Amino acid sequence: MEAAARADALAAYREATLGCTRCPLAQGRTQVVFGSGSPHAELMFVGEAPGFHEDKQGVPFVGAAGQLLDQLLAGIGLTRADVYVANVLKCRPPGNRDPQPDEIEACESHLFRQIELIQPRLVATLGNFATKLLSGKPAGITRVHGQPQDVMLGGRPVTLYPIYHPAAALYTRSMLSVLEADFARIPTLIGRAPEPPAPPPPLAARAHAPVEPLQLGLF
Ligand code: URA
Repeated sequence: MEAAARADALAAYREATLGCTRCPLAQGRTQVVFGSGSPHAELMFVGEAPGFHEDKQGVPFVGAAGQLLDQLLAGIGLTRADVYVANVLKCRPPGNRDPQPDEIEACESHLFRQIELIQPRLVATLGNFATKLLSGKPAGITRVHGQPQDVMLGGRPVTLYPIYHPAAALYTRSMLSVLEADFARIPTLIGRAPEPPAPPPPLAARAHAPVEPLQLGLF
């Protein structure tokens, strides 16, 4: 299917999914949170489930974790318009509890269809639920974060890239540097030149910096 036809099919699929009643979460939701971003994205993020703000606004990752996601994206030169963001569950579990196995089973074909129509090159799974579902393996995020895996998704080979859920860094501040390091590899994984390193400090600041020792043995 051509890219434009896939984008149309995704929009039609979204419309059809807005009325989903496949699991009891339909009763407690304000609305289905289907996903957002570019239907042609090379990079797709998959989180866990909508929270309070997502349920109200109908858009994934708009709360505190979403703001951190935006910040991490900006760090690698991307915006939300460049990527596609979805969740394992499309409806908010009551009180933001963990997704239940029967809810994941009822909802997963929505996510697989999204991946099939978007055809991303890299799927970054945020946290345990997305990682376990899309890798098909029980290994948790602490063990596998930052390790790209080759998988088949939506009938195509895709690189799966597990990373911590941004909410982890909201609870445990030291997680932020782990997340930043894992994000820093994304440009290479999607075959894009990594962001250039930060510019050197201005000359005036360098004048007071200690002189670097001579590197011997280079030649
Ligand atoms: N956490 C998620 O996993 N998804 C959202 O959409 C928001 C917070």
